Amino acid sequence: MGFMDKIRAAMTRFMAGRYGSDHLGMATLMAGVALYILSMILGSGILSFLSFVLYGITLFRMLSRNTEARRMENQKYLQITEKWRLEWSRFIRRQKNRKEYKYFRCPKCRQLLRLKRGCGEKEVTCAKCGHSFTTKA
Ligand SMILES: [Zn+2]
Repeated sequence: MGFMDKIRAAMTRFMAGRYGSDHLGMATLMAGVALYILSMILGSGILSFLSFVLYGITLFRMLSRNTEARRMENQKYLQITEKWRLEWSRFIRRQKNRKEYKYFRCPKCRQLLRLKRGCGEKEVTCAKCGHSFTTKA
């Protein structure tokens, strides 16, 4: 068994029955890193302390044997952030499709709509409020 295999096996043994990482763990870790960078820029001791608190929470949750409680926390986190995560994935998709589609808002209800680029002037009917208007794409 190679050295790396030994380390991997030892890690697996160590993590057995422990919770490990999840979405919330990634979020607290990333928030910790972000706060640490911010604390370096601002020279703020409170922020760097807070970043270490976040690392501590991340580590505590990863090593926790109370997997049920950690799972519930993660579920709550996912519930709370669902709207933002959805908005974010929509934003990413819009960026990807920007060459193919023109995105614009309904002038009446602000609903986000799209038209295939190069289709010229078109009459659009908003799917949400039924308002009709012409636009170019
Ligand atoms: Zn509308």
